[in-house]
Amino acid sequence: MSWSNLHSHCFYCDGKFEPERYIRRAIDMKVFSYGFSSHAPVPFECGWSMRSQDTLNYVNEISILKQKYADQIQVYTGMEVDYIPGVISVQHPSIRNLDLDYTIGSIHFIDQDRHGNPWEIDGKHSTFLHGLNTIFKNDIMQVVKRYFQLTRAMVREACPDIIGHLDKIKIQNRENKFYHEFSRWYQYEIMHTLEEIKASGAILEVNTRGIYKKKTVHTYPGRWILDQVRKMKIPITLNSDAHHPEEIINCFEKAAYMLNEIGFKYVRVLVNGKWTDVELDPTGLKIPEYA
Ligand SMILES: [Zn+2]
Ligand SMILES: [Zn+2]
Repeated sequence: MSWSNLHSHCFYCDGKFEPERYIRRAIDMKVFSYGFSSHAPVPFECGWSMRSQDTLNYVNEISILKQKYADQIQVYTGMEVDYIPGVISVQHPSIRNLDLDYTIGSIHFIDQDRHGNPWEIDGKHSTFLHGLNTIFKNDIMQVVKRYFQLTRAMVREACPDIIGHLDKIKIQNRENKFYHEFSRWYQYEIMHTLEEIKASGAILEVNTRGIYKKKTVHTYPGRWILDQVRKMKIPITLNSDAHHPEEIINCFEKAAYMLNEIGFKYVRVLVNGKWTDVELDPTGLKIPEYA
């Protein structure tokens, strides 16, 4: 048995080390398919995204490593691209021209403050509270609705291969500080968003980072959402969002156990460059013999 991880960061964005170090560790951890998904550049000051002048080096360096380790692991070049209307998306020429193997689309910014600075929702809680107050006048429901509206707009207008960490905004709602996920309005947002994802054919990511970083108890998205995903037969993939080589398959066994329990038997991953449904159990993925 083996694993796949297509959501990872290295020193081209906010990851810790050079790409090769992740590949070596992935081989040790019996990963057969590994993808880099550095944060795509954004045209404003941002502490965790790649610089636009580095994108070609990023693609070239990974392409050299693909060849170097071809007999031990399949390596893929992707990017985690924000969706900011009129600013950046997977459809932007700067992304399309790179000829990536795949893209992850994620929402990290949902609005701007009055000085035009984009407001990040998955950073510090104090940053969140500041924007909630100054941009949204403490109307949490509007913030969450805006987050899912943007997710749906991304799916409709610039759909990535993989939808990243669907309900990550929940890290700001620890211990149901602002609302309960069983609220009708919240469930409506989720269901409406899942319907659009289903119609698009995109793959929904099950992301373990919140668990091992102790920001959430559950995966992104959480259990009740995954029950719906299963019923709707939306394809899923399992990712760690690793920033450090030791995080590459963190919490995968636990997540795979939960996914099996919900009724998921397969995850969709890249095998020989093609999206393929492979069998999943808590010990790993059953890789096709031709891989
Ligand atoms: Zn992200
Ligand atoms: Zn990420």
